[in-house]
Amino acid sequence: MNLVKTGKRVERRSLDFGNTKIAFSLSFSTRKNLNISVHPNLEVTVNAPVDRSLDDVLSRVKKRAPWIIKQKNYFERFQPLPTEKEYVSGETHYYLGRQYRLKVVKSDKDDVKLIGRYFTIYTADRSNKKMVKELLNTWYINHAEEVFNKRFKICYDSVKRYHIPHPQLRLRRMTKRWGSCTNSKTILINTELIKTPICCIDYIIMHELCHLKIRKHDKNFYSLLTKFMPDWEKRKESIESKSMI
Ligand SMILES: [Zn+2]
Repeated sequence: MNLVKTGKRVERRSLDFGNTKIAFSLSFSTRKNLNISVHPNLEVTVNAPVDRSLDDVLSRVKKRAPWIIKQKNYFERFQPLPTEKEYVSGETHYYLGRQYRLKVVKSDKDDVKLIGRYFTIYTADRSNKKMVKELLNTWYINHAEEVFNKRFKICYDSVKRYHIPHPQLRLRRMTKRWGSCTNSKTILINTELIKTPICCIDYIIMHELCHLKIRKHDKNFYSLLTKFMPDWEKRKESIESKSMI
């Protein structure tokens, strides 16, 4: 097999490990060691020294396959999987981990109210699901802004003495992640998180705050997270075990 010494070129490769196909992007650089990373978006990247043969790289990736699969499974569990909603009366929707029934009521004025165990949506055309969805989503986003800012302040205040830089909090609706840390100054939180309990929201915020100090999910990262939030594993399990969105 040919040697690939193309400097910055990145190529797509894949190999079979048992029944699992492992796809990855491969690049070569002047680095000394071969590095295999599994990213939270489930991407696998392999960076190899320029003098490694492709055969050698592939055999190294194959050797690490069980670890790659394990990492991918870990991140996969972390992917929020939205369920298809119908936006009709009687349907279950979540807010802060609690179940509410949807009630769509005909009204001249569009509005959303959370009363008792019901999400009541007021709108002119009860059969207009797109409109019901839009009204409910706007309500969620408004509440996410309020709740996340409040929780972010509480979480940050409890860890700022550990010299965590003060980040900017931004909200975004995401389908693949609960949160991310885009650079040292911005934390991105998925607005869908408003459907999960406060303890889970705090866990995601705390997890991202730890990334401001430690980028990778290594031993140091988890020991810092444990210091800030000793029961984080329980919260993580809780967010992963239920389908709230
Ligand atoms: Zn992370």
